[in-house]
Amino acid sequence: RGRTLRLAGAHLLGRDTAKGLPGRQDIEAALRASLTGDAPKPFVLAWQPIFHSNDGTLMAAEALVRWPRPRRAPLVPDDFIPVAEATGLITHLDRWVLRTACAAAASWDSDLPISINMSAANFYLTDLLPIVMSALAESGLSPDRLEIEVTETVLLQDPDGVRQQIDRLRGLGLRIALDDFGGGHGTLGYLNAFPFDTVKIDRAFIRQLDSGERAEAVVRAIIQLGQALSIRTVAEGVETQAQLDFLTAAGATAVQGFLLGAPMPEARLTALFAPPLG
Ligand code: C2E
Ligand code: MG
Ligand code: MG
Ligand code: MG
Repeated sequence: RGRTLRLAGAHLLGRDTAKGLPGRQDIEAALRASLTGDAPKPFVLAWQPIFHSNDGTLMAAEALVRWPRPRRAPLVPDDFIPVAEATGLITHLDRWVLRTACAAAASWDSDLPISINMSAANFYLTDLLPIVMSALAESGLSPDRLEIEVTETVLLQDPDGVRQQIDRLRGLGLRIALDDFGGGHGTLGYLNAFPFDTVKIDRAFIRQLDSGERAEAVVRAIIQLGQALSIRTVAEGVETQAQLDFLTAAGATAVQGFLLGAPMPEARLTALFAPPLG
């Protein structure tokens, strides 16, 4: 008989409300049960490929957290990240994602770079640097294979402290990306004031490409600014061939979206870089 893994908090997610999701209090209790202590974590990572736009080759993969449940659809980040952020549990969740993603990537038969998402709260931890250093050391992952994605919310509070954190992290040899650029109150000034390696152009801009030339002008300007500042540009949420054609012609560094590949299990991602059979 196999060992039974008791996933912490699983029983708390059994009841759905009218919306087809567990209630906020059940999510909070299950998060707390699974993130405090040593019980096996109930989360898994989905991986979304990111492709060079010039030649279509694989450039990197982004780890996106999922929360599988028995007999129900997995919870997606929008279902539980806001609760994790509001309760301060997010730093524990992001630490698990960091360690798990680094360990996975280090085990691959490929040097493919990875990116992970980190909520703003991590950047106010005094021990963020040692946390990242130990994830790299434990996994053996080369720092230049890791990129950490942050949204502009991280820049709103204590910009000087956050800038120092970014500088120290980059000093380890990893990269920092500004995620969802243009999706919030984002100003172009952020690209100048913080040393980002990559800017990810928000899905909302890519969607607007379908509706005309003004959106095209904005996206082209972001790409050109990236080129001028030596910041890589990654277009998010690419769903149509027309969007891909425009982004390629405009010179975006990379593209990511359902057209090219949805978030997938690790085994499907690693099959993308397995040598072809025969
Ligand atoms: P994000 O980092 O901007 O990730 C991209 C999101 O867009 C993902 O949603 C992905 O599934 C979705 N997406 C990708 N391509 C397309 C497309 O072509 N069309 C559309 N409509 N959507 C697309 P997901 O996985 O639900 O994640 C949502 C957000 O949750 C992420 O946005 C990120 O901000 C956050 N998140 C995910 N994993 C983590 C994590 O481990 N820690 C933290 N703090 N946040 C996370
Ligand atoms: Mg992201
Ligand atoms: Mg994004
Ligand atoms: Mg997002």
